[in-house]
Formats: sequence, C-alpha cells, structure tokens
Amino acid sequence: MFSSIFQATGFKRALTLCQEGKHAEAEALMKSLQDEFLAVCEENEALKLQLSEVANVLDLADKVQFDGQKYWLNDDGERKGPFCQVCYDRDGLLVHLQERDNHWECQSCNSLYILPREDSSPPKKKSEARSTVKKTIPLFLERELG
Ligand SMILES: [Zn+2]
Repeated sequence: MFSSIFQATGFKRALTLCQEGKHAEAEALMKSLQDEFLAVCEENEALKLQLSEVANVLDLADKVQFDGQKYWLNDDGERKGPFCQVCYDRDGLLVHLQERDNHWECQSCNSLYILPREDSSPPKKKSEARSTVKKTIPLFLERELG
C-alpha cells in the first residue's frame, strides 16, 4: 500500500532522477511535489476545522436541555439560561432570554415565554398561543428523552 503511494506521488521518480544525476529534473519534480504536499496540508487543516465544528455542535447538543418551553445549558453542573427555543432550533444559536415582569423575551426573534409560577400551574390560555412553538422539538433531544 505504502509503496504504491510512494510511486504514485512521484517520490520514487525523484529518487531515480537523483541517482541518475538528473538533478535539474529532480528539482523540478520536488517543487511540484511540494506544491501537492502543501495543498494536501491545507485540505487537512480545513477538514480538521470542520470536524471540530461538528464535535462542538454535538457537544453542545449534549449539554442543552429542553424544559418543554425553553432551552437551558448544563455546563459542568452549572445551569445557564434560559435560551430561546425558536432561535436554537432555527439557527443553532443560544440566544439569552431577557426577563420581564411576566415573561421572558427573545430580543432576536421577539418570541415570548411565560415565567413559571411558583404557586400554581402555568396559565393555559397563553401557552395555547405558543402552540406553534411547542411543535418544533429538535430531533436530537428526543434521543435523550427516550
Ligand atoms: Zn429567539
């Protein structure tokens, strides 16, 4: 396997040229091999970057929790949030919700989330108004719930 790559990439030919004393030809070949090598390195870096981005997304998906309404980030036992469900599902962005008197507000997409009541169950009227929001639970979270 290695020997076929060795031949295909031209290293063996460069070696042969050197052994035959054809140094100018060998030098030209080495230069083109260097260009190929640099192109491969560049591609490798791009792939590494892509891989780490995917890993970050997966890592984030593991830490994000859905409370039926909003997202929370569980970062090493520390609960952060809440974050907008619409923005995360649509753009993959964790947008902090701003706390108001009776609700949280997303300043990015203007979604409203009713503040939980300590004494009674949440008001049903307003949660019905957000029924479209509730339908879009991301698929990767169903895995954790199931
Ligand atoms: Zn939002």
